Amino acid sequence: MTIAEAASKDGEQSSKKPKVIIIGAGTSGLRAAEVLIESGCEVVVLEARDRVGGRIATSSKLGLPLDLGANWIHGDQGNPIIDLAKRAQCSYSVDELDDTVVFAPDGTPLPKRLGQELETKMWDYFDDGMEYSAQNFDAIKTNISFIEYYKARTDEDFPEGAAAGGDDEKRKEYQMQIVEILGGIVATDIKRQDLKNLHLEKPIPGENLFMSSTYGPVMTLMAKTAVENGCVQLNAPVEQVETVYTAAGPVHTVCTKDGEALKADGVIVTIPLGSLKQDRIKFTPPMPENMRQAIKHLGYGSLEKTYISFPTAFWATESTSYFVFLAPEYAPATNSERKLISTLSLAHLPQPYNQPTLLFYTHGDISKRITDMLQLDSPEASRKKILEFFQPYFSRLPGYVADDPDCMPVDILSTNWLNDEYAGNGSYTNFPVGLVDGVEDIKTIREGVPGQRLWFCGEHTAPLLGLASVSGAYWAGEITARRCLVGFGMMSEEAERALAMGDGL
Ligand SMILES: Cc1cc2nc3c(=O)[nH]c(=O)nc-3n(C[C@H](O)[C@H](O)[C@H](O)COP(=O)(O)OP(=O)(O)OC[C@H]3O[C@@H](n4cnc5c(N)ncnc54)[C@H](O)[C@@H]3O)c2cc1C
Repeated sequence: MTIAEAASKDGEQSSKKPKVIIIGAGTSGLRAAEVLIESGCEVVVLEARDRVGGRIATSSKLGLPLDLGANWIHGDQGNPIIDLAKRAQCSYSVDELDDTVVFAPDGTPLPKRLGQELETKMWDYFDDGMEYSAQNFDAIKTNISFIEYYKARTDEDFPEGAAAGGDDEKRKEYQMQIVEILGGIVATDIKRQDLKNLHLEKPIPGENLFMSSTYGPVMTLMAKTAVENGCVQLNAPVEQVETVYTAAGPVHTVCTKDGEALKADGVIVTIPLGSLKQDRIKFTPPMPENMRQAIKHLGYGSLEKTYISFPTAFWATESTSYFVFLAPEYAPATNSERKLISTLSLAHLPQPYNQPTLLFYTHGDISKRITDMLQLDSPEASRKKILEFFQPYFSRLPGYVADDPDCMPVDILSTNWLNDEYAGNGSYTNFPVGLVDGVEDIKTIREGVPGQRLWFCGEHTAPLLGLASVSGAYWAGEITARRCLVGFGMMSEEAERALAMGDGL
């Protein structure tokens, strides 16, 4: 049975059509809107920006469209985004992008096999760490970083005796350095990733797929029902939600920045966790204390992307599509902390999406440095600084010849989520060292204040396998909409429970 069928069946007794305001037209808000519209609610989606999509956004500044936010489908088994991607006729790549070369700290490429062994081991330790954290959650103390687990595993595999001098010692050093790649997954310095709550990083099973055609067509499809029904109001940043109780139940007044005040019977808040942390919306009465605490406990990370385009893909003479620069010694002026840098070749995407462009991911302190460069006085000054930062890396790629016009960057496109208040000044939820019980915190936010008909959703309230992802945000929107229908007597709790069976909550 579909959600709408379950709702109309249960809702026959209910005569009034409830009005629900959804704050935010990102993945979760649009999915919630779709379910509620199809189930017969009156829906208004208030979106702060002049576009829908939230942390899914594309830009054609460099020619072909590129994703500024989400780019990957994490896990293809039972992932609702796969179905949407197929319906939207998107192209997604599996194999083209996992052929890696790792550069040693002195800038020389390691033998390909060694680089791939380092990377494989790193993923194995990460997977094992997630399993270990799930199995031993109660026994693991708080305040322990995942890096301690990783180091212990590396020590086991490369005992001191074997590592004393020679190749093994270097191998162990590299194994410890490459772990920084995972910072791009958890959107912070990997040392800040909690071990006890590491299991919350576990993704949906299956392959990771790169959306070659961008998430754009999927977002158009996600937004279709809300847009076609005229429910989305753009340029409407919400500042306040005030609830009063009447004999007929709670009534909400939702106020936007330009003074508009809209009434609703229920409200779904989908603004990012980072925005909730900053109290970007004032709630009267205030949010319950346990929710405030849960919002405080969870982390909100930073991940940024810099695309650099060239006249030709000079590096694409071979199959290598992913380049990793370990603890670089050769960029003391711009990267004195020797933070790992990595880049993905978009020349390796299938036609017609392949392009002579490199995608650099940055996270934590480096992403802050890059976004600070975007705040300089002129776009030219920003561009110059950003290219200065990345030059030591792209100039080490195969085929690079200094002063050859083919190796000179044509243009750059760098994201700025850290300075974007509607993205909560960051990228997505993470689980920092010191977190006590992330599951409890997520459940608390997910619960919202149902008696007040005030619900919260987004990637930070997703089923555990979808946290911090588009897939999770989509699920969260759907689940919250169902709970909202239950709240309005339009769906029975039994019907909701039956539909919830597959949610993994
Ligand atoms: C750089 C980057 C890379 C990523 N890569 C991936 C990836 O490869 N794969 C993946 O699955 N996920 C990825 N993610 C995460 C993914 O994009 C998010 O988890 C998902 O899009 C979040 O959806 P959401 O509905 O929870 O929030 P959002 O999409 O942020 O939606 C919230 C909406 O609320 C609006 N809003 C905010 N404040 C207000 C206000 N006061 N009033 C009205 N509206 C407001 C915002 O403008 C936004 O439209 C990435 C994110 C970033 C930033």
